[in-house]
Amino acid sequence: MQEDRCDVLIVGSGGAALRAAIAANEAQPELRVLVATKGTLGRSGVTATACSDRMAFHATLATTEPAEPEAWRYHADDIYRIGGYVSDGDLAEILARNAADRFADLDRWGVPFVRRADGTVDQFVTDGSKYARACYTGPYTANHIEAALVTQVQQRDIALREHTLVAELIPAARGNRVAGALVVDEQSGDVSVIHAKAVVLATGGAGQAYAVNVFPPECTGDGYAMAFRRGAELVNMEFIQIGLSSVATKLACSGSMMRALPRLVNSDGREFLPDYFPAGTSWGRIYTVLFAKGASWPVSYQEPSHVIDIAVYYELAAGRRVYLDYSANPMGLEPSELEERVLRWYNDAKSLDWVDPAIAGSPLRRLVAINPQVVRWLAERGIDLAAGDRVEIAPAIQHFQGGVKIRTRGDTTVDGLFAAGETAGGQHGANRPGGNALLDSQVFGKIAGESAATDAAATKRWPDISQTGRQEAIAWLQAFKGGPESLPATEARHTIQKIMSDIASVVRVRERLDEGLAKLDALADQGIRVDDKGLAYAVETANALTCGRLVVAAARERPESRGPHLMFARFGDLEPLPADEAWQRYIMLRRSGERIETIVRTPVPLSGA
Ligand SMILES: Cc1cc2nc3c(=O)[nH]c(=O)nc-3n(C[C@H](O)[C@H](O)[C@H](O)COP(=O)(O)OP(=O)(O)OC[C@H]3O[C@@H](n4cnc5c(N)ncnc54)[C@H](O)[C@@H]3O)c2cc1C
Repeated sequence: MQEDRCDVLIVGSGGAALRAAIAANEAQPELRVLVATKGTLGRSGVTATACSDRMAFHATLATTEPAEPEAWRYHADDIYRIGGYVSDGDLAEILARNAADRFADLDRWGVPFVRRADGTVDQFVTDGSKYARACYTGPYTANHIEAALVTQVQQRDIALREHTLVAELIPAARGNRVAGALVVDEQSGDVSVIHAKAVVLATGGAGQAYAVNVFPPECTGDGYAMAFRRGAELVNMEFIQIGLSSVATKLACSGSMMRALPRLVNSDGREFLPDYFPAGTSWGRIYTVLFAKGASWPVSYQEPSHVIDIAVYYELAAGRRVYLDYSANPMGLEPSELEERVLRWYNDAKSLDWVDPAIAGSPLRRLVAINPQVVRWLAERGIDLAAGDRVEIAPAIQHFQGGVKIRTRGDTTVDGLFAAGETAGGQHGANRPGGNALLDSQVFGKIAGESAATDAAATKRWPDISQTGRQEAIAWLQAFKGGPESLPATEARHTIQKIMSDIASVVRVRERLDEGLAKLDALADQGIRVDDKGLAYAVETANALTCGRLVVAAARERPESRGPHLMFARFGDLEPLPADEAWQRYIMLRRSGERIETIVRTPVPLSGA
């Protein structure tokens, strides 16, 4: 078996991984820093591929309101408060305090952030934040960040292995330390070992554990699963950003898509929304809530518009499909019944008046008036609203708030193992302010890279690899050859995704989570075998399975609603259980034999909180 050596192994090539690689190289230029990634540099992961109407990078700059010394403290406060008090306050402070410097790096490296005529950076308010902190380049902010980081990496002495799936971390012979990894060449299927003094996991989220998600295919949660198998602690895995998206195009159907007040119809042709409001709710109230959904895309317990997500979820659970239909007004819509804030928004933000029959008479005319780009964007992808096409929607997974528990150095509970970006957990709570994930990738990417380099520099010899650990990792890979009872990877993937979308999406009920976990555990016992998609796909499927089990194990332990975790007493209930202050606690997960152990712990408070 081929063996390779590096001082710092960076797993992944998204925003967090590349920032970590740059920082490791700058901190200790004499060390060999190796980036091992699935796919090709600059083309894999969310940072390289995701887009939305306006992608945000959150930062408190010198010009950011209220433009006071230490204004970053308001940002830290927002992260902690919006997070529902289930994050480490000191990590929120690190994020907020370092945001301006990480923005300056990206700006210097050529990310084309939009500026106003006076040269100051244009910033807007994102969900729940107190001040306008969201910097942007447009729909492709993340892709611009990735491109700038790729250029920086290529200008430095940083080694690269593309099409390389890091499959398993190998422990050191002594202590609770990681000493390298077993990797699989995605193209040939060849297996090799990389010895490393320190490892940074930056493998992104686990969207592929769910049937409907807006992640690229490589985001199967490998970092969460590998860290768990190696004994690291994970946190906040129950908190996942979920929002209504177009099934065909993955477009997040927020903002104008809802504010235009389309009909929500199911595949039986029924306008179902009123069925999910208390009897007697006025049409005006129903459509004002639909309008409010436009301003709060991810499901959140704190936002009453979560009733829209719940309604769509139950329709799908009943076997019906759901569409946004812009061809005619929803039933009962009367402009005079809409709450004042709807009419005011049209007037103030868009200079449009509901006395205009075109505005009052048609959702399509409203959408064209407030966001013509989205109508064009959909038409280019085969959904022609003007011709009466409807947008099929479903709750889609967009971001994992939790992950491998880190502390202030990006360090995990395993020596020599660091995590950053979406793979890391504890810096965000139940919700995260929009724009904070890209920020996180840069702040904790840099910190994790520096810490890993410092750690590696202090480790004079490569730690001996545990021979037992190495054999176990190889045996784990060989098990994918499978016996007759094991499930082909493609079939297993569909089963996992269906279970997760059924039980651990918008509506969560303890009994269903218990049943789901039992099914996932049974699948893990049964085993997964390689099919025509190859070894890497089988490994990823096993990782998605582990992530599914971790999410469900955490969700079933939280008996309240918080952020996107809506817990219900019974399936079919419309009202989630209330948030409970006593549950301003972490649910930590770690491996105990083949079981998942859960531990309830108190987060680190914000300083001064
Ligand atoms: C549609 C969409 C819109 C978003 N909008 C915003 C926004 O406006 N603002 C914001 O802040 N956030 C936003 N987010 C979230 C944010 O973009 C991501 O959280 C962030 O880009 C993740 O960066 P990352 O480096 O952690 O992971 P990624 O960029 O996903 O990179 C992960 C990398 O790890 C590699 N990898 C995975 N497993 C392995 C393995 N086993 N071995 C080797 N390599 C591996 C992948 O190939 C990839 O290179 C959005 C997300 C989506 C999907």
